[in-house]
Amino acid sequence: MALKAVVEHTDYNVHKIDGYICNLFLVEYEDKMLLLDCGSISDIKRVEGYCINVLGRPVSDIKLAIVSHSHPDHAGGAVIWRKKYGIPIAAHPRIDFWYEGPGGFLQHKVDCYLATWVAYRKKAKLERILFSRKVKPDFVLQDAAEVPFFPDWQVLHIPGHTINDIALYNRKEKTLYPGDCLMNLDGKLYLPIPILFPDKMEASFDRMADLDVNTILVAHGEKVLTSDPVKVFTYMKSLLDKPFNTLTSLAYRFSLYSPEYRKYKRHSQ
Ligand SMILES: [Zn+2]
Repeated sequence: MALKAVVEHTDYNVHKIDGYICNLFLVEYEDKMLLLDCGSISDIKRVEGYCINVLGRPVSDIKLAIVSHSHPDHAGGAVIWRKKYGIPIAAHPRIDFWYEGPGGFLQHKVDCYLATWVAYRKKAKLERILFSRKVKPDFVLQDAAEVPFFPDWQVLHIPGHTINDIALYNRKEKTLYPGDCLMNLDGKLYLPIPILFPDKMEASFDRMADLDVNTILVAHGEKVLTSDPVKVFTYMKSLLDKPFNTLTSLAYRFSLYSPEYRKYKRHSQ
């Protein structure tokens, strides 16, 4: 049975659910719940179990599920959430361009292999990872928009890791969910792997540094509590200047097939 890991706020509680590859966060209000993010396809059963066994609430209390970006450990469950429970999905307008066409088809398969490799490195028992290439979001989340049904959360477009990354920001609760934009492992902050758009990543870190934030919900690792978001994101920016190590250069070399990346390269040459 899943243990309760709760961050209490005045308007809601945030529950961290250990997913197959990364954490998922269930934001629980009295009358509704918000899922950040859709997780791997095999995380459906984890979230179902958490709702029913830990919270004692029906899964249908989830009124919206967010996809922070295209990768299998974040978008994997999206289509199933909608199909099985009718839960609407919200994502960036360009989400479905990432795995489009032959290059996207290849990138999708490669990303599924990479995700499986990450699970293997975590010593997780291997689970299904293949998922639908298209999310077909019910709500497209433009930069600065309010999140449907949850107007206390605002969308920030924060490209860098992919081109369609979004963060969710709750100004009142000073809480940020930045998807994969930073990892916090063993008390140390790391950049996402890969970073395909370093100039955009830098600008995204600058934007997040300007937010009034004291809690950063982290998909890979532990949450970051800070009284100084400028320091956190300035440090993240400084990591961009460091050369790739073997792991990051390998991941980068296997991440160049998406038509979105190719378009960016053409325009930046
Ligand atoms: Zn990712």
